[in-house]
Amino acid sequence: MRVATPGRRALVVVSYTLSPAAAGCTSAFTLLAMLSASSLAFLKRLLDTPGPSGFESAPARVWREEAAHFANVRGDVHGNSMAVVAGAGEPTIMLAGHIDEIGVIVQHIDDEGYVYIAPIGGWDVQVLVGQRLRFLGAQGDVFGVVGKKPIHLLRPDDREKASKLTDLWVDIGAANAAEAGARLSVGDPGVIDSHTLDFPNNRIVSRSIDDRIGAFVVLEALRRYAAQPGAARVVATATTQEEIAWHGGGAAVSATAIGARMAIVVDVTFATDHPGIEKKELGHHPIGSGPVLTRGSIISPVALRLLRSTADALSIPYTLHAAGRDTGTDADAIHIAREGIATALVSIPNRYMHSPNELVSLDDVDRAATLIAETCRRVGTEIDFTDR
Ligand SMILES: [Zn+2]
Repeated sequence: MRVATPGRRALVVVSYTLSPAAAGCTSAFTLLAMLSASSLAFLKRLLDTPGPSGFESAPARVWREEAAHFANVRGDVHGNSMAVVAGAGEPTIMLAGHIDEIGVIVQHIDDEGYVYIAPIGGWDVQVLVGQRLRFLGAQGDVFGVVGKKPIHLLRPDDREKASKLTDLWVDIGAANAAEAGARLSVGDPGVIDSHTLDFPNNRIVSRSIDDRIGAFVVLEALRRYAAQPGAARVVATATTQEEIAWHGGGAAVSATAIGARMAIVVDVTFATDHPGIEKKELGHHPIGSGPVLTRGSIISPVALRLLRSTADALSIPYTLHAAGRDTGTDADAIHIAREGIATALVSIPNRYMHSPNELVSLDDVDRAATLIAETCRRVGTEIDFTDR
């Protein structure tokens, strides 16, 4: 999910909760396939593989290798990955989750071998302070630590101030510029060095959940669809460059090529169950409350109806989220591709977005995959997407 640029609005949303799954209505949940051990291992591989916007080839390879077990896979010049399950052949549905993550890029190396970085995507600079970084150097990984003047040496009035990126540098242990330049070059990308953690209550914590979790959900949905396909030809897509995608990114390119009638975009949204959240601004989407379905100006009411009726039929809990303008996701590019694509947005509630410790519930992930697979099974050529 992109950070709004200055001058654009901060996301203003209203939402309300619908929970069609009454407590005790457990029979419908037998339809839910839980994430298998091999799917979970794939998810962790996907999360732990670095790939900031424009440099996503490593996680894209992981995604394509997994997809090749049950789908026809191809890539494009933009780095997008497409996995196709033909079904009976039509209509075509695009499922999109972005494979990139926020990161940093080497901007300059000084005479003493210190490295200066610029952001890839929307950072809170305070998150970078004190972190370990993993750069993707030409000769392999290069590790660095983000340096900042110790608090003892800050003037009293500076102690209260937020750090700016220009106050920070990266120390890779080089003795001088030549040594640093032999290991890193201007333009090398990097991410925070971290790995996925299992948390209690079927939750995980990781870097890059925004939006590897979406790339994972669309492939897991395709895996479940492939086990019992319907009429539709379904194309799961791991899109590139969403975090920098004011121009539409890989989603614009792949949506143009795929030629779908309908699209379901999967991204993360703000979980609203931690301190400091204003529900009157963000609605109510707690961790574990199921996928979040966006209703709003760019969303196809036909595609949303399909998702909601499927969720109701399967007793999958979900919440609604309202968006009175663009969504800060791939849906913004996809719904206006070609002659227009009926686009829905399914989001996973996520705490601590754009940090090394994003937190989601695997129950929400599993329900989103089941909901999308079953929705695809219910789409045939008779559906009139112009019926708004
Ligand atoms: Zn994001």
